[in-house]
Amino acid sequence: MEIQPNKLILTNSAMAKYSLCPRRYYWRYVRGFTSKGLNFNLEAGSYFHDALHKLFLGEEPCWEATDEDVITPADMKCRKEAIQLARFLIEQYMQFYGDRALFTGCEVTPEWEFQIDSWRDDVILAGKVDGLIRRKDGLHILEHKTTRAIDTDYLDKTRLDRQITFYMWAVRELTGELPKGIIYNVVGKPRKYRRKGESYADYLERQEVEYLTLPGTYFARQVALRTEGDFEEMELDMHRIVDEIASCHEEDYFRRNTDTCYLRERRCNYQPFCISGITAQNVLTYQKKDPFCELDEVNVWEEA
Ligand code: SF4
Repeated sequence: MEIQPNKLILTNSAMAKYSLCPRRYYWRYVRGFTSKGLNFNLEAGSYFHDALHKLFLGEEPCWEATDEDVITPADMKCRKEAIQLARFLIEQYMQFYGDRALFTGCEVTPEWEFQIDSWRDDVILAGKVDGLIRRKDGLHILEHKTTRAIDTDYLDKTRLDRQITFYMWAVRELTGELPKGIIYNVVGKPRKYRRKGESYADYLERQEVEYLTLPGTYFARQVALRTEGDFEEMELDMHRIVDEIASCHEEDYFRRNTDTCYLRERRCNYQPFCISGITAQNVLTYQKKDPFCELDEVNVWEEA
């Protein structure tokens, strides 16, 4: 599809970032800044997703620690341990589900990337789901998740999660078929703490017995459903958000929401920019990266 440069490109993540703080959206999606240094949870999640994707394609996962985005020895250590964790989770997952791990017997399309340019004249909505599955009871979207704890809070959150509503709506917009629901394929990360001086390999070995004896704590598959009313409300919400984002771009002003500078005790990565502006010193801790780099088809983002 040819993308028109005068249209905004928005994903669910971009809208979520804007809703949290428009200035955060600006730093990431307009200026393209992201912190240097690797994030362990993001790394492990990414390797886990890639490995599962390869298994669905009938290929061997790649567990090689490349040096992409690696700047310091600490980054490389982070990546190697994230790979160990992802590999451990895949092994536990395959062992627990056996034949059901890859939904054998169903028609599976691993990864499905979409773009909708007909919803509004000024925006292209884009995204990628982990898979589409046709089971005996109909079409479903598949989403793989890794999390620290599978508890009622985590599963209740799926009820209003816009990502789920957005993906189901997008599949219907593009295929004409409304999926029955989204299968949340959740794998829990180890819950026990690492002992002082313990190697990461030893730590993971110590967790194996937990996964064998308490599988309900670590594996969950839940189908999230949506009603027509959910889609209507989501569209109303999205129109408001897109109107706001479009006017921010037009006025070239993205307001701050300073109530979210610290969330769950964590400082927003962009705080140095918001306090001092971009300086020769603080800019060194950031890099520019295409915010839509995970989407193969969206490649018209330009650095501002
Ligand atoms: S530091 Fe605060 S105001 Fe600045 S981008 Fe982050 S959340 Fe927004």
